[in-house]
Amino acid sequence: LKHTRQDLKIMQGWSLERKIQVTQTRILEWYMRHGGKVFISLSGGKDSTVLLDLARRVCPDIPAVFVDTGLEYPELREFVKAKDNVNWLHPKHPFFEIIEEYGYPVISKEVSDCVDGARKGQAYRLLRLNGELLDKDGKKSSYNCENYRYLLDAPFKISARCCYHMKKAPIFKFERQTRRRAIIGTMACESKLRTQSWLRSGCNGFESKRPVSQPLAFWLEQDVLRYLKLTGIPYAPIYGDIVPVKGKTNKDGSPTLKTTGVPRSGCMFCMYGVHLEPEPNRFQRMQLTHPKQYSYCIEKLGCGMVMDYIGVSYRIDELYEAYEQVELFNLDESEELEVSV
Ligand code: SF4
Repeated sequence: LKHTRQDLKIMQGWSLERKIQVTQTRILEWYMRHGGKVFISLSGGKDSTVLLDLARRVCPDIPAVFVDTGLEYPELREFVKAKDNVNWLHPKHPFFEIIEEYGYPVISKEVSDCVDGARKGQAYRLLRLNGELLDKDGKKSSYNCENYRYLLDAPFKISARCCYHMKKAPIFKFERQTRRRAIIGTMACESKLRTQSWLRSGCNGFESKRPVSQPLAFWLEQDVLRYLKLTGIPYAPIYGDIVPVKGKTNKDGSPTLKTTGVPRSGCMFCMYGVHLEPEPNRFQRMQLTHPKQYSYCIEKLGCGMVMDYIGVSYRIDELYEAYEQVELFNLDESEELEVSV
C-alpha cells in the first residue's frame, strides 16, 4: 500500500487552499511525466467540473473526454456542449441492451457484483452474501453483505457490468487509440472501493496496470461545493444553487453547504444508492422535473419493478399522499415534519 488510512484522514483535514495546491502539483506531475499526453475525464458533474478548472489553470491545453451514455440529465449534456476542447465518446450498446444482457445495477457495485457472481456459483461471493466471510483473525469480515441476500431470488438479472460497458470501455478505447493517460475526479470518501484504490496507488498511479491520476482523491464533497462557491465558475444547472445549511458548520467552522437541486448528477436511471436517499429521492424528483425520462425508465426499462422489489418508493404522489394525511389529522407544524421525514 502506498498510503495508510491515517494519511487519508490527515489529508482530508487539510485546508481548501492546501488541497488546491497539492492537487495542482499532482496534475502537473502527471502532465510532465506523460509529455502532456493526458486528458480529463469529464462527466459534467460538479467534481469533474472542479477538476477541469483546476487542471486548465495550470495546463490550459488539456483536453477533456465526455462519454455520452444517453443516461445523463439533458441539462448536463448542454453544459458539457458549451465547453471547449472536449472529445465526445459513445458506448457501443445502449443502456436497455446492457440491462437485458447482463442485468440491472442495484444497491451498489459491490452488491450487484456479489449477487451476479453468487448466481453463477462463485463460492467467495456466496459466502459474502451469506455473511460467512471471515477476516484473517477469524472475525466476521466487513465485506459481508448478508442484508442483500434476498436479491438472489429477484425475478430479474442483476450485475455490475453496466459501468464498464457504458463508461469505461469507451474511455479505455480512447486511451489505446490516443495513448493519453486519464485524470479522473473520483474521491476516496465516495466508497470503499475508491478508498482502497487510493490506499493502493495514491493520487498518481504511475505503476498501476492502467495508469490513472485521481488528484481529488483526498477532497470531500464540502471542498467541491466551497470551490464552486468561491471561484464562481459555471456548473451544471441541475444542481440548483449552493447554499448554507441552517445551523450547521464543518469541522473548520465554515458553513456546511448543500445544493438546492439534485445532490448528485450521475446517470439518471441508475439505482445505485437510491435506497439510502432521503425522500424525495432522485426518481421522485425526476417524476416532477423530467417526466418523459421518468416514465421511460420506470415503465419501459423496468426500473419501477426493480425498486418495488427492493422496497424503494419512486412515486412523488406517494409522498403527497403522506402530506394529505397529515393535513387530515390537523397536526401542527412540528408533528407534520416528523411524519414527512
Ligand atoms: S452509474 Fe449506474 S447507470 Fe451509469 S453506467 Fe454506472 S451502473 Fe450504469
